Amino acid sequence: MTAEITKLREILQESNNIVFFGGAGVSTESGIPDFRSADGLYNEKYAYPPETILSRSFFSANTEEFYKFYREKMLYPDAKPNKAHIALAELEKQGKLKAVITQNVDGLHTEAGSVNVLELHGSALRNLCLTCGECYPLEKIINSEGIPLCLCGGVIKPDVVLYEEGLDPYVMSQATKAINDADVLIVGGTSLNVYPAAGMINYYRGDKLILINKSETSFDRYADLIIRDSIGMALNAAVFEE
Ligand code: ZN
Repeated sequence: MTAEITKLREILQESNNIVFFGGAGVSTESGIPDFRSADGLYNEKYAYPPETILSRSFFSANTEEFYKFYREKMLYPDAKPNKAHIALAELEKQGKLKAVITQNVDGLHTEAGSVNVLELHGSALRNLCLTCGECYPLEKIINSEGIPLCLCGGVIKPDVVLYEEGLDPYVMSQATKAINDADVLIVGGTSLNVYPAAGMINYYRGDKLILINKSETSFDRYADLIIRDSIGMALNAAVFEE
């Protein structure tokens, strides 16, 4: 165990008010690519860039094309929770971790057993009829072709926050409150360059800001502990290893 992991372990053992804030890097260890990273989808060739396709106006104007891209590139129904998800669920079970705040839409924290999960960008596991509000599971999207329709005839839209759409104010307020109240804040799998992540971290007032990310982040100079490694490895070692 490295000195950093030992330090992380000590901090976790001493706290009963830990909050975790995670980005795409948490899901990449489950085999879900980060569509913003250098080797991610942004470098691939499409008629439109992903930011355009994944926007509300594109969804409204080109629903069928949106779903072609979405089914092919955004859905990973076989992905399983990794060591990071499992360690965080264990910390919550022990009463030490109060909230997981995530920018991912894959539902893997909940699948791993976490209960208080604040999904800033929504969830691909929920899909809502734009006409009547009926909610459908992921299978409805996977098992349909073209534009998925509700029994009422309405168009179904994934309950994920698209570009041009605002975040859910209730989820935002719960997340900022959790960060504001936290004793320990662990930020993992994000370089904190993308809105709203950076702004939300500013609500933290404690003195145990832990950054776990393979590359530099824009908050490194404020961190009390930096771990440049796999988040699954780091959390697994700190939570489960002797
Ligand atoms: Zn409907």
